[in-house]
Amino acid sequence: MTSTKKALEELGNVVQLFSNQELLPEMCRQVFIKNIGPSRHWSLGNKLVMLLNGTADARGYRQWQEAGRYVRKGSKGLYILAPMMRHKKIENKDTGKKEDVEFPVGFVGVPVFRYEDTEGRPVEEYQPRRIPPLLDVAEKFGVKVEYCPTVLGEGGSYNLVTNLIKLSQENPDTFFHELAHKAHSTFEDLKPVQDPEQETVAQLSACILAKLYGYDVTSFSWHYIASYAKEKTPEAVGRLCMKVLSKVQKVIILILETHEK
Ligand SMILES: [Zn+2]
Repeated sequence: MTSTKKALEELGNVVQLFSNQELLPEMCRQVFIKNIGPSRHWSLGNKLVMLLNGTADARGYRQWQEAGRYVRKGSKGLYILAPMMRHKKIENKDTGKKEDVEFPVGFVGVPVFRYEDTEGRPVEEYQPRRIPPLLDVAEKFGVKVEYCPTVLGEGGSYNLVTNLIKLSQENPDTFFHELAHKAHSTFEDLKPVQDPEQETVAQLSACILAKLYGYDVTSFSWHYIASYAKEKTPEAVGRLCMKVLSKVQKVIILILETHEK
């Protein structure tokens, strides 16, 4: 099979993903992972191909070498589509001069390798450019907050046992979501799984806190909660939200009061 065919096959998987309404919001969220590798410049389609292959950092063979890492023997690459560029001399109507112009003439499959299939120098760690609002609340709760790229993991996580919030992206609402889990755990024993009610408490709280700080994540939140509701209908989502509303209120008050202390 040619590399272009392989890349097209990968893209076919992405199209399939787009028809899965529950998976898509989650995958799209991961696309915003701030990794320091070259894939941050890739197209959405190529990024999704990468995520479907179970990695948040894929690079070409030479790009890994430049980063001081080596692709392990026998590792299979995955294929992304890159535009094939041609140069042409075109006359600039304003200046009358001929100028070199680059234009795409098609696509070609390019093999890249997963971070997991390489070894060598550790990759530079990702540092947030912005500090999220309410970070002080985490501190007052005694929670450690860490930024690190996750591999096919979620945008963030809160670990009840280690009392650690891990974030792989800078969206304040991701941090708010994990902070809400923590606040929730102070007045109810949480299940150590992705529980529909717990997730609704966290995301609804995050959505409201985000609004307070000028970010609108309503649409994302709806889809997130819908993925945990019995049906993906406004009625089912509404019912789930109503069920946990008093807990959401508790979480928000607790977070904001802790912030003011
Ligand atoms: Zn959660």
